[in-house]
Amino acid sequence: MPPETSSLLHVTGVDAGYGSMQVLWGVDLDVRPGETVLLLGANGAGKTTFLKTLVGLIETRQGHITLGGKDVTRMRSSDRMRLGMTYMSELAVFPDLSIEENLRVGAQALGHANPNARAEELYGIFPVLRDKRRNPASSLSGGQRKMLGIAKALAAEPKLLVMDEPSAGLSPLFVKEVIRVLTDLRGHGLALLIAEQNIGFLEVATRVFVLEGGRIRFSGTVAEMTDNEALRRAYFGLK
Ligand code: ATP
Repeated sequence: MPPETSSLLHVTGVDAGYGSMQVLWGVDLDVRPGETVLLLGANGAGKTTFLKTLVGLIETRQGHITLGGKDVTRMRSSDRMRLGMTYMSELAVFPDLSIEENLRVGAQALGHANPNARAEELYGIFPVLRDKRRNPASSLSGGQRKMLGIAKALAAEPKLLVMDEPSAGLSPLFVKEVIRVLTDLRGHGLALLIAEQNIGFLEVATRVFVLEGGRIRFSGTVAEMTDNEALRRAYFGLK
C-alpha cells in the first residue's frame, strides 16, 4: 500500500526556513493512525521549525504535507486543525486564564458543540485539574501546567497531537509523569508526534526520526535505532 493511503500524516521533501536562512532540507516523515512517533534532535536541529511548518505557522517552500490523504501544504492552520491536527507548543497554556477557561479555548478552536462536557471528560483523565478548575493556570506547578497543556490540546479532539518538547522545564519526576500520561493516551487511537531531545520518550515511541542540521539522518523503529552504533553513541553516550 502506498504510504499516502496508510499514513495519517505524510510529509515529503519539505524545505522551510526564515528569510534567507534555510533550516529544513528535504524532510520526509510519516505518522500512521494511532502511532507514537518521536522526532529526536539536539538544540537547533530544526524540530520546532518542522512542527510549525506542519501546522501551517511557517510556509512550506518545497515539498508536500498530506493529512488524512488531503494535501494541506497550502492550507491555513485553522483548517489543518479542523482536519484533526493539534499543536502543543512548549508554553502550551494561557497563564492568566483559569484551568477551565484554558480547556474551553482548546475546545472552541474546533467549534466544539459542548465544551463543558469535553472538559468533564478531560477532568476524568487529569483529576488534579478538576480540583483547581477555577484557579489561574499560572498557579499550577510546572508539571501540572504541562498536564493542562496536554488537556487543552486534547480538548480539540485531535487525530494527531503534535507536541514540542513536552519535557521542557520539567524535573525528571514530572517527565516520568508526562510519559505515563502519554502511554495511557496511546491506547485511545490518538496519534502522537513528539519532538524531543530527551531520550526518555523512546519508551512511548513506536518509531523514531532523528533530525540533524535540518535533515532526517535516521528513521526506523526504536530497536533499529538502538542497534545503530553511531546513533547509540550520539544519543545514549554508549560505545
Ligand atoms: P530547540 O530545542 O532549541 O528549540 P529546535 O531543534 O527546535 O531547537 P529550531 O528552533 O527549529 O530548532 O531552530 C532551528 C534553527 O532555526 C536554529 O538555527 C535557530 O537559530 C533558527 N531559528 C529558529 N527560529 C527562528 C526565527 N524566528 N528566525 C530566524 N531563525 C530562527
